[in-house]
Amino acid sequence: MFSAIGLKKTYHPKHGPAVHALKGVSIDFGETGMVFVLGKSGSGKSTLLHILGGLDYADEGELVLDGKSTKNFSFKDFDDFRNESVGFVFQEYNLLPTFNVRENLAVALELQGKAADAEKIASALRRVELEGMESRKPNELSGGQKQRVAIARALVKDPKIILADEPTGALDAATGNAILTLLKALSDRKLVIVVSHDREFAEKYGDRIIELADGEIVKDSAANVPEKDAKPNDGAGEQRP
Ligand code: ADP
Ligand code: MG
Repeated sequence: MFSAIGLKKTYHPKHGPAVHALKGVSIDFGETGMVFVLGKSGSGKSTLLHILGGLDYADEGELVLDGKSTKNFSFKDFDDFRNESVGFVFQEYNLLPTFNVRENLAVALELQGKAADAEKIASALRRVELEGMESRKPNELSGGQKQRVAIARALVKDPKIILADEPTGALDAATGNAILTLLKALSDRKLVIVVSHDREFAEKYGDRIIELADGEIVKDSAANVPEKDAKPNDGAGEQRP
């Protein structure tokens, strides 16, 4: 179980007024499933995702993973959380350009303090259907293939949570669909959180859609479950249109 409680984040740019990027965001995530965080540019999606993954810190609020709160985290705990619990996938892939595919995955394992196990790497690459591409450099791959490497790099760490920031933003529609199909398959066994401005993708692939506007949650499809508060019609009330 993974939860965010009361996350607030304000940026203080050198020029201009402070930006309240997150104004108190709380979300309970399940163990698995594909959750979309949907919102316009500037709504705070990337800020939220970075905080969920320990890449940035909230000014207020906490994360709770399996009963452990980040409130009591040391820097080492945050390092471990980033390295072991979450895998990141970015719009621009963020692969190391001078390293080949195998080496990009090896680095992720080494950052975990683990050996660059050849079988683990091969298995992650099989999972994203990239076997045989181990020796290619990122510039020898298509956008879709680069994103598959990024997903394999997240997977090789075997994290509980995969966080993806606009993972299809740089891809054509067909390739984007393929990437989301892959992430959706992974969400059987992992929590996959995808940030996107694309409502169509969110509705097609999301098990749950959380909408963010101006640093606040304005809608959560998981809140649309059977209307608990719907009162039985006693005939005396006003008729609803
Ligand atoms: P999104 O990913 O939804 O486009 P972001 O989380 O990137 O939104 O940004 C939310 C708001 O915070 C925006 O108004 C953005 O301009 C601002 N912002 C993001 N990063 C910084 C920063 N490092 N310094 C100042 N403002 C920032
Ligand atoms: Mg963003």
